[in-house]
This record gives sequence, C-alpha cells and structure tokens, in this order.
Amino acid sequence: MRNYKIPTLTIAGSDSSGGAGIQADIKTFSALGTYGMSVITAITAQNTQGVFLVEELSNEIIKKQIEVIFDDIPPKAVKIGMVSSPQIIKEIVDTLKKYNPKYLVVDPVMISKSGYSLLKPEAKMNLIKYLIPMAYILTPNTLEAEEITGMHIDNLNDMKIAGQKILELGLKYVLMKGGHLKGDAVDVLIGKDTFEIYKQERLDKKNTHGTGCTLSSAITAHLALGYSVEKAIDLSKKYITETIRNSFDMGKGVGPVNHFY
Ligand code: PLP
Repeated sequence: MRNYKIPTLTIAGSDSSGGAGIQADIKTFSALGTYGMSVITAITAQNTQGVFLVEELSNEIIKKQIEVIFDDIPPKAVKIGMVSSPQIIKEIVDTLKKYNPKYLVVDPVMISKSGYSLLKPEAKMNLIKYLIPMAYILTPNTLEAEEITGMHIDNLNDMKIAGQKILELGLKYVLMKGGHLKGDAVDVLIGKDTFEIYKQERLDKKNTHGTGCTLSSAITAHLALGYSVEKAIDLSKKYITETIRNSFDMGKGVGPVNHFY
C-alpha cells in the first residue's frame, strides 16, 4: 500500500494551465504516493500555447512559506524548480541553510518549451554560486548544462565532462538529460564514483508540457520513499516515459503528460 504520509516539498513557480511547475510537481508527488506541499516563488499566466506574464512573489512570503513548513512538517525530500531572480535564489538558499535538507533536487529551470525565459539572465550567477552547490542532485538538460559550464555539449562524452565540471561546485550528483541530442533519449548520472547511463526509447509525442518538472519531482518522491539515487532515477525515468506515452490533447497547444496514466 502506498504511504501517503511521507511529505515532499516543491519550491517552484505556478503554471496556471496545470501542466508544468508546482501543479505538475504536486500531481507527480501524489501519483507516486507521497504527500505534496508547495512553496510558490512566482506565478505564471500560462496555457498550452505559452507563458504570457510572470509575477514574482516577495522574498518575505517565500521565506515564510519555507519556515512554516519546515517548522511543522519537515519534508523528506525537497525539489526546487523555477526560481526566477537573483534575490529569490539568495532568500531560498539562506532560509534552507537553517534546515539543511538531505535530499535537495535542483532543476535549473531556464526557458519554457514555448521559449519564455523563466530565469532572469542576471540570476544565473546566484544559481551557480549559491543554489547548485547545495544540491544533492542537479537535473539539467544539455542546454542548461551548457549555460552552467560554458561548454558546448554534443555527445555522451561531452555530457560526462560537463557533469564532472558541475560536480566541482560541491553537489553530490548530476543527472544530465540528453533529450535534446540526436538518437535515443540518453541521460547520464555523474557522481564522484558514479557514472551510470540510462537509455530510454524516444517517444515521438506532441504533448510534452511539463516533462522536466515531472522528472525532477518524481526523483524527489522516490528519494523521499527511501530509494537509492540510482534506483530513484531508474523508477522516475520509467514513470516519465509512461506519462509521455499516455499524454493527451488539452487546449490548443502543447498538452500535458498524464501523471495518472
Ligand atoms: N512553467 C513553470 C512554472 C515551470 O516551472 C516550467 C518548467 O520547469 C515550465 C513552465 C516549463 O515547462 P515546459 O518546459 O514543459 O514548457
């Protein structure tokens, strides 16, 4: 039986259309049998066709949300998604330091599939300097890893080198997602003594809104449930593949994956 009493937390942006962001995270946490909680950093006015407006929340309310949750229901694992600005990143990092969560999954969200920037260019430095070093695992796609390392990533070997370079920032693991490269969807897990390749068939589906958010929150849920990092990724990759296989038309644009297939 699923233990719905295991608390998980997402710190991220809201997607009004329910396909990505906080909404995708909570759906994933629930589908995988954990108790999902949220700290909202920014609100996006968004539908399946794009992001139309973003409003960031104040540092004060972001900090307070984190504090009251940790003081009352300490989550077993935490995921961080859209953080938007340099001030928000610094506030999250300073507040989380008090609680030092063991499993911190950081998804370095930068640009939505529709092309809208979800991280201000000036926030990149704080992401690299403060947030990434705190992570247990970072889940960049190759484009995000290029932004973080300044490297050009073309193949598996580049992914390994870039991953090792990111590890030097002090985090434990990097799961680099190769979905943007040609061929099979290959992701690699890089740790100090770890190099693991995860191959998955490539599904040619139109409705893939929220895949990045869903994968990182699935990893968070599986870590909270007590799985090893390797097993958590294996199970999360299988979950995301099925959510994509069962994705559906909703709205006029890129529809959501199916969290409850
Ligand atoms: N909106 C929010 C609030 C997000 O956090 C994210 C991604 O992390 C997205 C949109 C982008 O989702 P997609 O890349 O699937 O469009």
